[in-house]
Amino acid sequence: MGEFELIRRCFTRGSAAPVRRARLSIGDDCALLDVGGTLAVSTDMLVEGRHFFADVDPQALGHKCLAVNLSDLAAMGAEPLAFTLALALPPERAADDAWLDAFACGLFTLADAHGCELIGGDTTAGPLVVTITILGRVVAEQALRRDGARVGDDVYVSGSLGDAALALRAMRGEIAVDATALTALRARLEQPTPRVALGRALAALAPDRVHSAIDLSDGLAGDLGHILQASGVGAEIELADLPICAALAAQSPAMQAACALGGGDDYELCFTAAPEAADRIDALARDAGVPVTRIGRIVAGSGVHWMVQGQVAEVAVHGYDHFA
Ligand code: ADP
Ligand code: MG
Repeated sequence: MGEFELIRRCFTRGSAAPVRRARLSIGDDCALLDVGGTLAVSTDMLVEGRHFFADVDPQALGHKCLAVNLSDLAAMGAEPLAFTLALALPPERAADDAWLDAFACGLFTLADAHGCELIGGDTTAGPLVVTITILGRVVAEQALRRDGARVGDDVYVSGSLGDAALALRAMRGEIAVDATALTALRARLEQPTPRVALGRALAALAPDRVHSAIDLSDGLAGDLGHILQASGVGAEIELADLPICAALAAQSPAMQAACALGGGDDYELCFTAAPEAADRIDALARDAGVPVTRIGRIVAGSGVHWMVQGQVAEVAVHGYDHFA
């Protein structure tokens, strides 16, 4: 049983649930709760040895734990409001003031930049695990859900793909990357930039022009697959149009595909929009200070068709799944 099958089988109750309060429940980047306005709610957990190395810079870790949650709000087009922090700490970390101060500094610097307030949490001894639940606000009809992609939509991604996956391989010594490039790649892995301003600007064009979005945490192949499945459509993605950095472009085609399509931790947005919106999207991306690239289009059918110069290509890549 893979990660998503496990969630579906054990925790997705659908119409069997005795109480159904949420406008949108399990299965998207955030749940949507009507509370006068609409709350966007998301939880992400980072576990030592799985999501980060034991010797990670604590300031970067504090940043990343919140960044991955802000990224889910961005993917919904929501405005960050507040978060809770649940922390399991090994005794040696709990006794290390410098480590804790640096962690808190990374966390609060990003929180303050987004006007997002820490409102509670829990602290216990245990293996190092950081769990954040984040709350945001969105106009319900403008929430960028996974199930809104339409045939004929353009498919876009923000930023560049595969940087974090390339950094991980370089840090493990699996590939050679020069020192300057590695510094930039490591920053992308350890201190990702959640695309909150871009997500909110896209939501302002929804639901008429912008139809769906997801953030890329498990690789484009898997995450775009979630949009396609939820929306009941397929996509044609032109491999040559994928935005990748020079260091990744210098790798073999197999490594490029593994990192750009199957690599996790990009925390870029993938979204779909009506072709008429192209100029508006270019303009709002400029305003948000992040490049966006059109990489293909939504078609009838199912699944991703990877294209090379308009012809379907064979590419074996899968998104990251913790249990597959
Ligand atoms: P994301 O990558 O956007 O954070 P995930 O892939 O982790 O989302 O989760 C997919 C969906 O399943 C989300 O709606 C999430 O809230 C839900 N989910 C994940 N784990 C659980 C769980 N243990 N109980 C209930 N819902 C869960
Ligand atoms: Mg997400």
